[in-house]
Amino acid sequence: HNPTTYIGRFAPSPTGPLHFGSLVCALGSYLDAVAHGGHWLVRMEDLDPPREEPGAAARIVKTLELHGLHPHSPVVWQSRRHDLYEKTLSALAARELLFPCQCSRAQIRQQGGHDSATCAGATGKKLDRHKASALRLRCAGGEETFDDIWQGRQRQQIREDTILKRRDGLYAYQLAVVVDDIDQGITHVVRGADLLSTTGAQQRLFRLLGAEPPIFGHLPLVMGPAGQKLSKQNHAPAIDDRRPAENLCRALGFLGYHPPAALAGESPAAILHWAVARWQRRQVDRRDRQLQ
Ligand code: GLU
Repeated sequence: HNPTTYIGRFAPSPTGPLHFGSLVCALGSYLDAVAHGGHWLVRMEDLDPPREEPGAAARIVKTLELHGLHPHSPVVWQSRRHDLYEKTLSALAARELLFPCQCSRAQIRQQGGHDSATCAGATGKKLDRHKASALRLRCAGGEETFDDIWQGRQRQQIREDTILKRRDGLYAYQLAVVVDDIDQGITHVVRGADLLSTTGAQQRLFRLLGAEPPIFGHLPLVMGPAGQKLSKQNHAPAIDDRRPAENLCRALGFLGYHPPAALAGESPAAILHWAVARWQRRQVDRRDRQLQ
């Protein structure tokens, strides 16, 4: 049988319901995958219980469903994958690529970033037994380059040793996102441009884990009325699940597609069908901007 050459995903964090900016990312990643004959997966990044909103994960799954955005296989939950993260950490530790870090937030701020030259854990000095440690990956130095589908050629300096396990014992986003993208065989990561700056460090981790990094495409951000990025933190309004057709048409408009007005009266499936048939990466408007 033919191996699938495109596996994409949408990976929301359940810190609140989906807002318009996250719907644009879900839709963009879905269309790019399906238009290339690929599979589209959904992964719930429920790694950080203190920041999660009760019920948000289930609500996100429901919103996607009501918008016709059905994943090719069942939703994957990061909260059920701790064994895999722990195994990866052990393997990196066995290669002496991890070190414990007790640097305080204030210290890191003062130095303008984590400095491994003065970090006790990195330099093998004695640690405070009563203090919790984060785990960092020895990876700083040099740069990573990649060709982003929408943002073009990128060069990113890797200035810091990335945290893979936080001082509070939680697995870091950077660890889980790369481990899962590898484990799920993701070939294309299409997501919001707010994550562009995290990509170089992720690419380095892919390579350290012996995997080829995926192709990255960062979509333009939806800005709020005051020019701020829409986010759950600044209380962007939740998607109204009663108007999926309208929401999809507006999201398509933001991506640079202009469905005929009559399509707003159709089912989500019909709208997605219309969009898949027309999807062209170069038609996407790359500027971050407000919704008209
Ligand atoms: N879970 C991350 C977020 O919602 C996105 C991860 C990703 O797409 O790589 O910001």
